Amino acid sequence: MTQDAWLARHPYLQPVADLHALIHAAAREISTPSALIPRWDDYIDDFHAGVPLLHSARVAIDLGQAERMVSSVVERLASRRLPGKLADECEAVAAQLQCDPGSPRRAVAWLLGEDLFSPTHPGLLYYLGWTALARYLSPVVGAFSHWRDEERWLRSYCPTCGGTPAMAQLVGVDPGRLRLLSCGRCTTRWRYRRTGCPFCQSAEDHRLAVLAIEGEGGLRIDYCEACGGYLKTYNGEGNEGWLLADWTSLHLDILARDRGLKRLAASLYEL
Ligand SMILES: [Zn+2]
Ligand SMILES: [Zn+2]
Repeated sequence: MTQDAWLARHPYLQPVADLHALIHAAAREISTPSALIPRWDDYIDDFHAGVPLLHSARVAIDLGQAERMVSSVVERLASRRLPGKLADECEAVAAQLQCDPGSPRRAVAWLLGEDLFSPTHPGLLYYLGWTALARYLSPVVGAFSHWRDEERWLRSYCPTCGGTPAMAQLVGVDPGRLRLLSCGRCTTRWRYRRTGCPFCQSAEDHRLAVLAIEGEGGLRIDYCEACGGYLKTYNGEGNEGWLLADWTSLHLDILARDRGLKRLAASLYEL
């Protein structure tokens, strides 16, 4: 199935698809420098200790360029004709980033969960900021996934940025079938235990219950009876590029919530 066919079958996703397209078009128009690949030898001890790459004091990933990118994406978007209240919100975010030369640096630290910054519109800045950061970090995310030994991580948070997973994917065939977790922020995918809940890490290695949904392109809802958290899971291969994008399955979040389940997964779509 293609993304267009998916949208034709789920027309209520069209507004978020339009917003996604608008923001990514603005991000493509600004200059995108690439983050330099760090020296992995410097990082290896922190990696084994469970410190995500962007939080490691042993490697310095220059985020100065990313700060400029975040400001540029916001300004570019603010200069467009935007629907509804998005125009006002975008202008307010742009003004906040411009009012003090230290603001972009603090905004990026805030995106990484490190700084006390109070954005006027946190949902919008989070979405725009991570869209820019993910583009900047893309070469590092690629090189990191080649370098790291997945068996030595297997943690419930992203090895690159430290975020909690947005979704999961099952790949391969039994008995070697694997579960990958997917970061909605920096787009890293990493391995996790096949069973068990990544949110409460409940001691007994219980299986998650599965809510299968007919005709949803291999997507299902895996949920934990201990903590009530759920993880949208793509039980297939081939369409992960857009099916793991989270926004393409926001209707499943509504379905899960209607069943009393809690979204403990990180989301860029709370705006
Ligand atoms: Zn991440
Ligand atoms: Zn749980």
